[in-house]
Amino acid sequence: MGARPTPYLDDLNPAQRDAVELLDGPVLMLAGAGTGKTKALTTRIVHLLNTGAARPNEILAVTFTNKAAREMKQRVGRMLGQPAEGMPWLGTFHAICVKLLRRHGELVNLKSNFTILDTDDQLRLLKQLVRAANIDDKRWPARMLAGIIDDWKNRALTPDKVPAADAGAYNHKGVELYAQYQTRLRELNAVDFGDLLLHMVTIFQTHEDVLQQYQRWFRYILVDEYQDTNVAQYMWLRLLAGAHKNICCVGDDDQSIYGWRGAEVGNILRFEKDFPGAHVVRLEQNYRSTPHILAAASNVIRGNQGRLGKELWTEAAEGEKLRLIGHWDGEEEARWIGEEIDAMQGGTRGVRPMNLDEMAILVRASHQMRAFEDRFLTIGLPYRVIGGPRFYERMEIRDAMAYFRLVVSPEDDLAFERIVNTPKRGLGDKAQQTIQMTARANGVSLVEGARLAVEQGAIKGKGGGALRELVEGLARWGRMAGDKDLTHMELAEIVLDESGYTAHWQNEKTPEAPGRLENLKELIKALEGFENLQGFLEHVSLIMDNEQNDGGAKVSIMTLHAAKGLEFPAVFLPGWEDGLFPSQRSMDESGIKGLEEERRLAYVGITRAEEVCTISFAANRRVFGQWQNSMPSRFIDELPEDHVEVLTPPGLYGGSGGGFSAQGIETRAAEANVYNSPGWKRLQARQGQYGMAQPKESRNTVIDMDAVASFTLGERVFHQKFGYGAVIGIEGDKVEVEFEKAGLKKVVARFLNASDD
Ligand code: ATP
Ligand code: MG
Repeated sequence: MGARPTPYLDDLNPAQRDAVELLDGPVLMLAGAGTGKTKALTTRIVHLLNTGAARPNEILAVTFTNKAAREMKQRVGRMLGQPAEGMPWLGTFHAICVKLLRRHGELVNLKSNFTILDTDDQLRLLKQLVRAANIDDKRWPARMLAGIIDDWKNRALTPDKVPAADAGAYNHKGVELYAQYQTRLRELNAVDFGDLLLHMVTIFQTHEDVLQQYQRWFRYILVDEYQDTNVAQYMWLRLLAGAHKNICCVGDDDQSIYGWRGAEVGNILRFEKDFPGAHVVRLEQNYRSTPHILAAASNVIRGNQGRLGKELWTEAAEGEKLRLIGHWDGEEEARWIGEEIDAMQGGTRGVRPMNLDEMAILVRASHQMRAFEDRFLTIGLPYRVIGGPRFYERMEIRDAMAYFRLVVSPEDDLAFERIVNTPKRGLGDKAQQTIQMTARANGVSLVEGARLAVEQGAIKGKGGGALRELVEGLARWGRMAGDKDLTHMELAEIVLDESGYTAHWQNEKTPEAPGRLENLKELIKALEGFENLQGFLEHVSLIMDNEQNDGGAKVSIMTLHAAKGLEFPAVFLPGWEDGLFPSQRSMDESGIKGLEEERRLAYVGITRAEEVCTISFAANRRVFGQWQNSMPSRFIDELPEDHVEVLTPPGLYGGSGGGFSAQGIETRAAEANVYNSPGWKRLQARQGQYGMAQPKESRNTVIDMDAVASFTLGERVFHQKFGYGAVIGIEGDKVEVEFEKAGLKKVVARFLNASDD
């Protein structure tokens, strides 16, 4: 017959085969985690190629990340028995749209060599426009406008299409500024990220001939993770598939986790309406996880309303129950997981020996990674961070450390260059050159050069004033470093506050800003393990030097968001505490939308595990040197008892091994006076239920009572830097003051004096 053999089909179940063999017409594969959606999609590409239905360049296949695209290409190649390099249109939405826009940009007045702006450039541009429009960018930060515009772009709204209902955005100037911004971008021959799709949608909508050309060209369209597409992506797909309707989308409504970035799970539900007669394939057999893991995940996701609802089953052997463990604090959690990973490598945990590549730690918030990175570096456990920089490589961490370096060593010119205008102090290139020249002429460091330049009046205006403040600040902090009564954590906090660096992120109204603030808090926490700033800085430079690029096996650390679509034999899910996971924001929100998205994240997390899934929480976390006690996550209550084993770490932490000791914790709670929250009883009850690691004796000092502020509310006070103000809140040794000039600030009590006048 000449038909080519199709051995790859033998690896599929009948429902998957259906989805693969029905080449023509719309197909929707809607199924739970680990049911083989991605496998079926990949096999479909192979089948299209193998049967000659399409050539490689006639297939448009969209994945969510570049990593997923690479893996899919490799798998196709393996199944075909030849490299699939010739698949130019397999990639992410953005990667594909860049290519298309290079060809057709002239239709939206772009030259083919347009540049793609990064976030910094984008913000600089928006700031110029905001100022030109006489808007107070303190009250209306440019970042906020960036967020609004991004949201409109995700919804495929060009300025003329923004609905009247949104007209109030950004002080009633949002739409106008959006239009100006788009004009400026065109003048600069530039686009931002959101434009890549928006421009392509516009081109397809306004140039029938171009659209038709691609409708003919892309004969088959395939989309993975369809539940996370936004409106612009959806419209782009619908336009391309409009003629032949050969589109196959796969997704899982329970795994929609990008609502905060404009994804619309409704796109899945609308599929059958948009493509009448669509063949809907449901897959129910899970090939990834053990029955215990699957049961736990199913029980958690059942808490969401309005699901399409699906039952999953598996033939896998029963395996281990989900493991749940409570820890005294976040550091103990990291220590325990490190030891557990070692033990699992050795096969001493009742499960088969696993290598590091088979294990992953999935966190809710990226600041959680720090404790693991520090711990693993200390014990020499190789790890990799997926989907982002390692903790100490992050921008805000490097900025903060540059300040610390200058406190320790004012000669650190590189550090000075990094922070001289961060936060913005109105010191442009010219001012910075003046500093450089003054320093060189006098043979001194940049800090000293800056001091001289200020003294000589060489830098004028606002910038000069701000530079004077910075130079004086550095000198003052340097002196403080010698103060025995001040811990280096307190000093670090003062440096970040008084330099304006913390406020810089507090004033940013972007989605990333809270995360950056969390990372800064985490940095302060990291300092605790060291005697002084210098010791800490040495530690960091050593570990950063210790790059592990040897290609050996490594534990993976990543966020839950980055873990989408992946699988690992052993998965650790730390930090299951209310306020961290689910996030505080989702809990504060009215309505259940945010909380339901968090629950889907929990579902994504658990379903990444094949054989062993370990969930943990800590009863205490230190935030800015203060203990905060936290509740085990409400999602823990939703884990089905029959499928969960509660672990107590026997004798690991100087504890008795008997698990939770209510009395011990209560005594310390009274000492620390930090557990008066109404939820304390609930916490005790839950900890009693789940078992708790004993606090380590050496970690019992919680708050030095001598340091607790002795001010009264309303009292008038004086601060060396911020001047006069009134006390409006007291929290341990921190006092919240409304300063007359400097506004609301939190300061360390020790640096505050009662005012007599
Ligand atoms: P997710 O929703 O998490 O993205 P998925 O539905 O895309 O999951 P896959 O990643 O495609 O699931 O498959 C999960 C695992 O099951 C993979 O290891 C895959 O190789 C395996 N698998 C899929 N289908 C089959 C099958 N028919 N027989 C055996 N193993 C299969
Ligand atoms: Mg998948």
